[in-house]
Amino acid sequence: MAYRVTLIPGDGIGPEITDATVRVLEATGVAFEWERVEAGLSYMEKTGDTNPLPDSVLESIRRNKLALKAPIGTPIGKGFRSVNVALRQGLDLYACVRPCKVYPGVPSRYAAVNLVIIRENTEDLYAGIEFDKGSEAMKDLDALVAKHSTKALPKDAAVSLKPISEAGSRRIVEFAFKYAKDNNRRKVTAIHKANIMKFSDGLFLRVAREVAELHPEIEFEEMIVDAACMNLVVRPESFDVMVLGNLYGDIVSDLCAGLVGGLGVAPGANVGTHATVFEATHGTAPMIAGKGIANPLAMLLSGLMMLKQIGEDVAAKKLENAIKIVLREGKSLTADLAPTNGVGTNAFADAIIETMKRRSVSGTGQLADIV
Ligand code: ATP
Repeated sequence: MAYRVTLIPGDGIGPEITDATVRVLEATGVAFEWERVEAGLSYMEKTGDTNPLPDSVLESIRRNKLALKAPIGTPIGKGFRSVNVALRQGLDLYACVRPCKVYPGVPSRYAAVNLVIIRENTEDLYAGIEFDKGSEAMKDLDALVAKHSTKALPKDAAVSLKPISEAGSRRIVEFAFKYAKDNNRRKVTAIHKANIMKFSDGLFLRVAREVAELHPEIEFEEMIVDAACMNLVVRPESFDVMVLGNLYGDIVSDLCAGLVGGLGVAPGANVGTHATVFEATHGTAPMIAGKGIANPLAMLLSGLMMLKQIGEDVAAKKLENAIKIVLREGKSLTADLAPTNGVGTNAFADAIIETMKRRSVSGTGQLADIV
């Protein structure tokens, strides 16, 4: 039986890396039935629709419960904050999983990073509740602050709210501990700034402590976000699973992608109760779009995460082994990884497909190894 998956080729380098990823995933021998749907800037240009995220995309993902998505561009100044954020909120994909692992052969400053970021996806400063400078709403907010606080807002301020809920915190921290357990990880670190944001981050931290008590077999650690950034740069190998709110998670994800060789190698999955959308950490990289030189690896590793989720463990391991070999050999890498002798997107994909065909490349090994 073929797995039915919603496929979103997206914008910029999206279509190129999607084609390469699909070819490689099909070469694993697992059967897929791709339901190709369009969203984002190219979709708007093609159809004249003013909505970059048509309902049909959400319906397709709800139906199939699985989606593989390339980066999508968001029109600037057209009322949409971000198609990606709207997708996550529309499907309640509350947990973003971003494994960051150094593969031998990928140029990186560090040799032994193997951590996983669990980012809350629906709350925090991404809630989209903002008040503009000089607006009527700001006057009401001014009055509210004057009534309930000893402080006052600056007269020329704009304000973005940071809602952090108890339920939202609990489900993301529980997700992190379950992820740790299911993937043979030993430690969860909760990242916060509760010393300053005593109520919002304070709530997140209190809930994290409560959930940690229920999982004594997993080590629990808490760390202030600024200290975490320094520790990540100084000794990234000391981290295992990290759980963070939405904004810290966004920033720290890019930092960690940098630790393991850059955005071109950082995969991700947005997980909800009813659906999972697999997507790379990087954006549409418009500067290199259409040139056939983008690295499809982050999207391919996202596809590898999908193979693992649907239980195709042998195919997943075989693919990861082939990726490791191609990276280690270093002869067919894209220019972001091999600036002097880089090959194109398709040649990199072909090298992985050819490597998977070798009889010596098996689907065995530790599955916990996989992204
Ligand atoms: P967006 O506006 O969609 O966020 P961006 O170019 O500002 O796009 P990213 O796409 O995240 O941001 O990438 C930043 C830079 O990293 C790109 O300009 C490109 O040089 C590099 N990059 C990102 N992804 C890849 C990739 N898959 N292959 C090669 N280079 C990449």
